[in-house]
Amino acid sequence: MYDETPSTALPAPCAQCREIKRKRYEAVRQGDRRRAEAMAAAMGRHQRAAH
Ligand SMILES: [Zn+2]
Repeated sequence: MYDETPSTALPAPCAQCREIKRKRYEAVRQGDRRRAEAMAAAMGRHQRAAH
């Protein structure tokens, strides 16, 4: 596990980043472009709010 390890070399997404990324990846795999875009937008908002 490398959940809370701070890293400057690699992006170390927090739990919520990973969750959003996972959902976006699932949506992409399922060809659900609208959901993928929604997840990308959610990621953008999360990055601004939490990082
Ligand atoms: Zn995050």
